[in-house]
Amino acid sequence: MKRRRIKKQVYVVGIILLLVIVLSIFGIRYLLYRGTNEYKLKKIGYQPEEISIIETLEPDQIQTILDKEYNVTIPKLLKEKYFIFQNLDRYLTYYNDHKDDDLTHVVSIVNVGADHEYYDKDMVVKTKTDLKNEYLILVNKFHYLDQNFAPSDIVAVRNWYAYGENEIRKEVYEQFRSMFNAAAEEDLKLIITSSYRDYEFQDTLWNNYANSKGEEWADSVAARPGYSEHQTGLSLDIVTDGEGSSMDSFDQTDEFKWLSKNAHKYGFILRYPEGKEDITGYSYESWHYRYVGVETATKIHDLGITFDEYYAYYQNEIEA
Ligand SMILES: [Zn+2]
Repeated sequence: MKRRRIKKQVYVVGIILLLVIVLSIFGIRYLLYRGTNEYKLKKIGYQPEEISIIETLEPDQIQTILDKEYNVTIPKLLKEKYFIFQNLDRYLTYYNDHKDDDLTHVVSIVNVGADHEYYDKDMVVKTKTDLKNEYLILVNKFHYLDQNFAPSDIVAVRNWYAYGENEIRKEVYEQFRSMFNAAAEEDLKLIITSSYRDYEFQDTLWNNYANSKGEEWADSVAARPGYSEHQTGLSLDIVTDGEGSSMDSFDQTDEFKWLSKNAHKYGFILRYPEGKEDITGYSYESWHYRYVGVETATKIHDLGITFDEYYAYYQNEIEA
């Protein structure tokens, strides 16, 4: 009798112990799960596919998203090729004001700073042109050069290659001549019509325009002093002779077609392409070429992006 009762008690205690252990395991697992980002993101409202995209971020970046309300646009932005996390809030703000825009365009606009007004003072203070990487200097409506900036190795261009007097940086001149010779082999003629301009030249030019027809008009036809890429000594305006000697008709010429296919092999890019006006801040200029070196020019050409976009995504990342 006694032995049987003890046996029964051991049996009951055993079952209780087993239950406690099983429940503890589930309880602990549940508590641990509640601490995961997956659980927290789900609780805010993110769906499993959205969560797996967000979970590719760094822990502090995930926390930034956890601190916000559910936003259907965030996971979509994360899938954009040129997404930069530190720009997240600006993408969301810009998209909120431009709902019809596609996100690829939103990312480009914000990356280059074009969600600000041109020459925006706050923006400009932060974005003085970085001179460290001399052939990759960025000059646009948000990145400027000092009044006393002048490239050190400016050389004169022979009349053979140019209309009027022209000067340009040494390496740019060497690469232009190689490009000129390659084009000449196909009976094409590349002629430099404008090149290095110093600060004073641009200052006089812009102020003359502003005095005659106002600042707004001056901004529409010329860069403000310090904001012209021609001050870098890395920019060339290229035309040809005959019909193609005017800038406006240059994109109808065989020379232009040749440059579109070959300029990058000599380190040049078309700086203000058609359809990218809101990214570059400039009207389409089929004649304006910028030297960035062969490697970068090839990359920009192959990716099909502007120098502004390239700089924001690749150059800033390298320096960060
Ligand atoms: Zn130009």
